[in-house]
Amino acid sequence: MKTLGHWIDGKAVDGTSGRFGPVYDPATGAQPTQVALASTEEVDQAVASAREAYLGWRHSSLARRTSVLFRYRELLDARRDELAALITAEHGKVHSDALGEVARGLEVVELACGIPEQLKGELSTQVSTQVDVASLRQPVGVVAGITPFNFPGMVPLWMFPLAIACGNSFVLKPSEKDPSAAYFVAQIATEAGLPQGVLNVVNGDRVAVDRLLEHPDVDAVSFVGSTPIARHVQSRAVEHGKRVQALGGAKNHMLVLPDADLDYAADNAVNAAYGSAGERCMAVSVVVAVGDSADPLVEKIAERARTLRIGPGTDSESQMGPLITREHRDKVASYVPGAAAQGAEVVVDGTGYSVDGHPDGFFLGVSLLDRVTPDMDAYRDEIFGPVLCVVRAETYEEAIELVNSSRWGNGTAIFTRDGGAARRFQLEVEAGMVGVNVPIPVPVGYHSFGGWKDSLFGDLHIYGTDGVRFYTRGKVVTTRWPDPAKEGRRGLNLGFPQHD
Ligand code: NAD
Repeated sequence: MKTLGHWIDGKAVDGTSGRFGPVYDPATGAQPTQVALASTEEVDQAVASAREAYLGWRHSSLARRTSVLFRYRELLDARRDELAALITAEHGKVHSDALGEVARGLEVVELACGIPEQLKGELSTQVSTQVDVASLRQPVGVVAGITPFNFPGMVPLWMFPLAIACGNSFVLKPSEKDPSAAYFVAQIATEAGLPQGVLNVVNGDRVAVDRLLEHPDVDAVSFVGSTPIARHVQSRAVEHGKRVQALGGAKNHMLVLPDADLDYAADNAVNAAYGSAGERCMAVSVVVAVGDSADPLVEKIAERARTLRIGPGTDSESQMGPLITREHRDKVASYVPGAAAQGAEVVVDGTGYSVDGHPDGFFLGVSLLDRVTPDMDAYRDEIFGPVLCVVRAETYEEAIELVNSSRWGNGTAIFTRDGGAARRFQLEVEAGMVGVNVPIPVPVGYHSFGGWKDSLFGDLHIYGTDGVRFYTRGKVVTTRWPDPAKEGRRGLNLGFPQHD
């Protein structure tokens, strides 16, 4: 069995805690790898390396930083297939989907290559006689990134390229369920010429996370994961004086108005609900069918859902792979009979699904539940699997009230041909990312990503302009170069300075 350790100071470091976590191949159920789970001392070693590196890296020129990032972009691009294969091997998603994840991560590297534009300060001249004021943005220090299993390559790339472009150093703690992709992207950064210690990977579980949240030399924390852990991360990090952005879980609603193109809506609902086995924070997990769209829409979704090909992510015929672990698969499956017992109608039942030749893989078929109501567990919980709920609403008003009452507010979408209704929805809906005839409105790298309500703890969204603000601190410099020959000395004046 392979053992994955840490990446500290630009080199591979074996774990010394004696604790390991299993890393499965979800398509076979085998465990080809174990990952070291760091002790607090190992976290301290990574933070010390990052702190030391920060002292030099923060003064490196923008030209130097961007030349490393451009090289990094080229190396990652050349090896995107290899990275996607690593993602498929440990996460299970199909290869084409893994390639999509890599492409979306690369977008943020490309944004980081253009960091000089983002870090241009502001200058006001002659705000008072002989006085200029400049606003600068400077790095924060050592940033810790804690990432989830479902985008093992992309979410780390949402964070560290921009953080290091801004002059910070970084300690990444990837998900222990599929850690190899993060390790790979960090190794490549060293190959691209990133100085040792600027980017470190420490593998681990809650022990490592809690140490990062408390460590006096960690200045900022970017977290992406489930809502309960996001809440914990934010409060613990704030308690320890750090800035923090903690992105949480989701339950994304897709409204379908009666005037929508129902074939188009059904295609999109299926893609967004079952892609990556529903293990996306931007997956559509609830379709809100408004008025008389419901019957034909449910039929069209069911027709399509029944045709999906489920199999190993390495098989180019597969459209959907297995789930991340056996326990998670079983928990997701339990929502189907659970919803039926609470009164939902099971239109497509994916439980008990098996894939030929893969008896021990963590596969689950896709399920479609109709006539779900907000009091059911399948509606209230983030299932994070291939189970799509349909809630029926009589009117637009009833539908938007449902979305806005949800405790989450990550993404949402409306499908309609009515521009006025779409515009009203954009303005009224309480969520951070809105799609109009787009089911998974993940913003491009130069716009920021983030939710509202229990989907985000903190103020700033991730990557884009918000990312740059999060990874920098503002500084304002007020300058006077008096000319005593012209102005004479101003003499003593104990009053609060007024401009002239
Ligand atoms: P998770 O919250 O279980 O784990 C995320 C990270 O936190 C991992 O690195 C894990 O090791 C660590 N962690 C887990 N338990 C911890 C604890 N008790 N104390 C400290 N650290 C702990 O999430 P996951 O299951 O890996 O990922 C799926 C979740 O992430 C879903 O809820 C999904 O919606 C969410 N997610 C959100 C976004 C977003 O942008 N909002 C993106 C991707 C995933």
